Amino acid sequence: MDVLSLTAVHKRYGATTALAGVDLAVERGEVVALLGPNGAGKTTVFELLLGLVRPSAGRVEVLGAPPGRHRHRVGAMLQSAGLPEQVTVGELVTLVGRAYPRPLPVAEVLARTALTDRARRTVTALSGGERQRLLLAMALSGAPEVLLLDEPTAALDVASRRTFWRLVRTSVAEGATVLFATHDLIEAEAVADRVVVIARGQVLADAPPRALLAGGSDLEDVFLTLTEESPAAEGARS
Ligand code: ATP
Repeated sequence: MDVLSLTAVHKRYGATTALAGVDLAVERGEVVALLGPNGAGKTTVFELLLGLVRPSAGRVEVLGAPPGRHRHRVGAMLQSAGLPEQVTVGELVTLVGRAYPRPLPVAEVLARTALTDRARRTVTALSGGERQRLLLAMALSGAPEVLLLDEPTAALDVASRRTFWRLVRTSVAEGATVLFATHDLIEAEAVADRVVVIARGQVLADAPPRALLAGGSDLEDVFLTLTEESPAAEGARS
């Protein structure tokens, strides 16, 4: 059974077509990168999977059910996520855990996200990398089977990125399924089992990084060729 699936999904916002017939399936245990230029429709995919918006046409399923049905089994990091500034890291992780039926112990969440020694700090006193790790901690609190991460490492330095993915890998080793968006092609190649390239609301490629690189070029070349020159990349937006 696919853990995540979009079938012939269209999403329109008035005159704007955000998604124009997307088919995407993610199996249990996979780590899949969603790549695409600005405005490609990546965030829209996450919003649909979380049930925050509904498709204009097509079907979206998470863990075999409509989005939202199994929300306790899904953890998410969204670009738009805001954090209360005066609450401490420990308090926030505790609060979020209370929303889940079987949360991970707070101490374990903090240890997994390397935040144990930041537990008493308020959100205002965190660095950018620590803030991202806090968002990951909140996403992990419910011991989710599925992680939906929309540009989770944007603005992180190289070392923080490595730490971040090492932490995510712990969840993957325990069976979690991950869909993440990134603009970093090296990261996609290094982290993902499969790369899905989307532009103008359409899937242009869906393959393991190695297969995309089979022609000998690097992922950046493949990405630019797909997104700038493919006929499928033209005219999807109304
Ligand atoms: P980025 O890499 O810049 O974050 P993205 O791939 O995540 O982009 P989306 O945010 O999914 O792209 O947006 C896809 C298209 O849908 C864009 O043209 C965007 O302007 C439009 N769009 C997204 N949300 C809305 C909305 N609520 N109302 C109107 N248009 C929207």
